[in-house]
Amino acid sequence: MRTPPLAAFGQPPAFSAPLHVAQVNLPEWGRVENAFRGIFERRYFANHGPLVRELETRFAETVGVGHALAMTNGTVALMVLARALELTGEVIVPAFTFPATAQALIWAGLKPVVCDVDPRTHMLEVDLVRPLVTDRTSAILGVHAWGRACDPDELEAFTRDRGLVLFFDACHAIACTHSGKPIGRFGAAEVFSFHATKIMNAAEGGCVVTNDAGLAKRLRTIRSFHQQETFGLASARLNGKMSEAQAALALLSLDDLTQNVFRNRQRYQAYAGGLSDVPGVSLIRYSENEGNNFQYIIVDVDADRFGVDRDLLLDLLGKENVVCRRHFYPGIHRALPAAQLANPDAALPVTDWLSSRLLQLPSGQSISPDDVARICDIIRTVHRYSKEIKNHSSDQK
Ligand SMILES: *Cc1c(COP(=O)(O)O)cnc(C)c1O
Repeated sequence: MRTPPLAAFGQPPAFSAPLHVAQVNLPEWGRVENAFRGIFERRYFANHGPLVRELETRFAETVGVGHALAMTNGTVALMVLARALELTGEVIVPAFTFPATAQALIWAGLKPVVCDVDPRTHMLEVDLVRPLVTDRTSAILGVHAWGRACDPDELEAFTRDRGLVLFFDACHAIACTHSGKPIGRFGAAEVFSFHATKIMNAAEGGCVVTNDAGLAKRLRTIRSFHQQETFGLASARLNGKMSEAQAALALLSLDDLTQNVFRNRQRYQAYAGGLSDVPGVSLIRYSENEGNNFQYIIVDVDADRFGVDRDLLLDLLGKENVVCRRHFYPGIHRALPAAQLANPDAALPVTDWLSSRLLQLPSGQSISPDDVARICDIIRTVHRYSKEIKNHSSDQK
């Protein structure tokens, strides 16, 4: 047998230190130091200080909405929004998402109804949602997976006709567009995340954007019980405020956004080139006509054509110090306690199928085009030696 030239078969790993998925985008230290010196000089650390206000103004302008409300993180922003929308009963969510989407609803006292997704877009669509609407349904929470839009036009028409609320988890979708319009302008409100793995990194942070002034007011009330002297105005309030330290990082990240998107796009193109001749591994596509942040390098692994399945590829890449992630895995119907869901026994074949095949590959500031080429080489080698790899793993069973 030919021995595969891979770390799993005794070769040194391709990378001496682990390369992680979503290597964070960080501004230069000098700029961070300056921003933090300002915070220390002002002695204003929390409670909606000047940097949080500046971030809210600039972010709202970037998206083109009336109001941006900065919060501790994307999950808290979703929780506060689900409360401020004054929803009741059930909310339809895609099963193929990050658990936070549904967890936030549960914290807001709502029952998530899990819905399958379209195999091509990986997202909700009206035909999938329609059969799940009952008289208990109050809203639909769409997720713009990978920064591609979750069919806002069709969903807006559908929810308008039925008096349902539509809102979006746009945590992936900073600097993305739908029909040329920035994501953030759709539905009643949308939520962004500034988690370290996202294109804008505030070392945790999030934001709700909306054009509805009344909703913005309720969001402010729920976000902070320090905001007003009276504590009894909203049914449940919390401390979801963003700190000045977070806002300082978010602002630097906003300054760097165009450049970081540009570099992400170069890495994406390097992956597209490097994987184009590997059968059974297809890179997710982004429309040339829309903005995308290219933060998500997602490949679909077709085990029959590629030769090994996604999980074995993940394992072999891990041994080369290329730390990838199954994303989203598993579907939320398998990640959350059944009692928390309205329909825990729903059959969700597309979600299960996608979560068995998709793999997120490393990108971000510290991944060079040369690193990308080496990662693609490893994947090509795995394909070339797939027979030997499979024989070997079946010998070991
Ligand atoms: C990151 C993410 C969240 C949660 O955001 P945090 O800021 O980490 O709380 C929610 N939904 C999706 C789709 C995400 O990717």
